[in-house]
Amino acid sequence: MDVLVSEVGPRDGLQSITRVMPTEAKRRWIAAEAAAGVKEIEVGSFVPASVLPQMADTAELVTYAKSIAGLTVAALVPNAKGAQAAIAVKADKISLPLSCSESHSVANLRMTHARVLEEVRTVANLIKELPAGERPSFEGSLSTAFGCTIEGPIRDADIARLAEALMEAGCDEIGLSDTTGYADPAAVKRLIGVVRNAVGEDKITGIHLHNTRGLGLANALAALDCGLTTLDASLGGLGGCPFAPGASGNIVTEDLVFMLESMGISTGIDLEQLIAARDILGDALPQEPLHGFVAHAGLPLGYHPARTSV
Ligand code: ZN
Repeated sequence: MDVLVSEVGPRDGLQSITRVMPTEAKRRWIAAEAAAGVKEIEVGSFVPASVLPQMADTAELVTYAKSIAGLTVAALVPNAKGAQAAIAVKADKISLPLSCSESHSVANLRMTHARVLEEVRTVANLIKELPAGERPSFEGSLSTAFGCTIEGPIRDADIARLAEALMEAGCDEIGLSDTTGYADPAAVKRLIGVVRNAVGEDKITGIHLHNTRGLGLANALAALDCGLTTLDASLGGLGGCPFAPGASGNIVTEDLVFMLESMGISTGIDLEQLIAARDILGDALPQEPLHGFVAHAGLPLGYHPARTSV
């Protein structure tokens, strides 16, 4: 496998729609993607069910997904309390978002930057107390990095400062998130450079992109050119953006896998099996539009996946 495609639909896709997917369908979705060769799935977010009822079964889903051999089970946590819940069910990877825009952070999470960093320190300490083999990896995710719907553009100096602060507070690595779908390929390259300069070349391996304005795959390619090896995506581009009606959510997993495999970059994912998994979404959420070009057009004659590298 050359690139890790991390499926985030069960978290990002489902949390941005109001309908609640039954737990049983979520399990089938996770199982189908794992069977297709997806190696990492973010199964949910540890937020109170009163805030996001769609995520109420996250602990149960982590436990279920942990029973699938070879799968890295990731979860989002907004704070130390969420991290505690994620650690209790042995999530392999924990991401805590820090919104680069402080107004966004206060509006959405009711937390200033200082407050979020305090939570990060608490989480890092919780992880340190665990036996060495049981520690989840801990990513600080810079959300709204490419711009915010309240503040607009974020200064590079602020991105660098916040990346440093997250590492100092105890994160293992930094992720960049285009929460608002504002990124373009040049900005992707520039910000990866900003983070690398601030915290070190090896401390950023992944990026979280949305396709809100149609630049998702172009942005993914820019990240690949920079040497990033983990790309978040969502089956059927499930989700969307409340500010852009009709817009798709994350980049579409099927289209991303098609691009990578066609380019000779191995993902370990069987594209036909992945496309078949869309039926689970279609059956469970018939009113939600499913995006993706490859699923609609079909695989081209003569398509063959990349040879798996060892
Ligand atoms: Zn997102």
